[in-house]
Amino acid sequence: MTLLRGTVLERDGSVYRVATEQGVVRAVLRGKAKRGETRVVVGDHVRLDVESGVADAFGISLVEDRHSLLARRVPDGRGTRPVAANVDEVLVVTATIDPLPIPQLIDRLLVVAAANDLAAAVVLNKTDLDPGDELAARFQRAGYPVFRTSVRTGAGLELLKERLAGRVTVVAGPSGAGKSSLLNALEPGLELRTGEISARIKRGAHTTVSAVMVPVGPDGFIVDTPGFSDVGLWGIDPGELPRCFPEMQPLLGFCRYPDCRHTGEPGCAVTAAVERGEVGADRMESYRVLLAELDEAPRHWE
Ligand code: GDP
Ligand code: ZN
Repeated sequence: MTLLRGTVLERDGSVYRVATEQGVVRAVLRGKAKRGETRVVVGDHVRLDVESGVADAFGISLVEDRHSLLARRVPDGRGTRPVAANVDEVLVVTATIDPLPIPQLIDRLLVVAAANDLAAAVVLNKTDLDPGDELAARFQRAGYPVFRTSVRTGAGLELLKERLAGRVTVVAGPSGAGKSSLLNALEPGLELRTGEISARIKRGAHTTVSAVMVPVGPDGFIVDTPGFSDVGLWGIDPGELPRCFPEMQPLLGFCRYPDCRHTGEPGCAVTAAVERGEVGADRMESYRVLLAELDEAPRHWE
């Protein structure tokens, strides 16, 4: 019996597709991994044992420690379900126009990333239709890296590809933004086709469809999660929300009251920054909306 390390790409029932230095193999859970409480998910680094001359030769015997874990809430507040492990960054993709971008929706996804301790960047796609200058300025000012791309002309694709190198990236964003088209453009020969990915995403809104991880470039991976937005804001303490807004971070600790919620309290450093135009008023509006949502959220998880 030999040992092999790998990264879980996809789960299909009880069989896992695992990328290893010997290529992609199919493996089943064995031993401790089978009995263990850790649910093996896409992105997990696993140890495989290999028994030669046996059907189902590859067995996942151990799941290595994760440096991050995305989980989403199961409907009706019945706990959480892990979606993907060891994600490095969330790319929030929006079209510059068509479908019309909704900045508040993008903010929400960026906050979900931050709340999960994941770096985030914004991709403005379809720059052939509209350059997206205002949107780019909005998100750059807030402190996010912004990539402008056009699948149609190829503009910006090289830079985006460099960004993905050596990282595990979750791609999120509204339907129609061009996520599947981007993935196809970045990785020609990708097995998944646009329609299939979209179908997964649509189904994911209603049923539990697992994420899929696709190798991009020599050492990058994309996680296509059916419901990143379902990961939601649950579990975030309202007091943690300000740190999820990068432009607020340097201001925290400078308000008059240490428990300032930045909603009009006297001596609030964040409000002052909004008044000076240093923090965008509509970013602040997103903050207020999300804060109200967290205040109202039932604490199922407590
Ligand atoms: P998804 O739902 O985010 O995966 O979006 P799709 O990749 O399915 O793209 C939605 C539509 O936008 C498709 O008709 C694509 O051909 C089109 N599209 C994607 N990227 C671009 C782009 O850069 N420019 C233009 N003009 N159309 C694009
Ligand atoms: Zn304040």
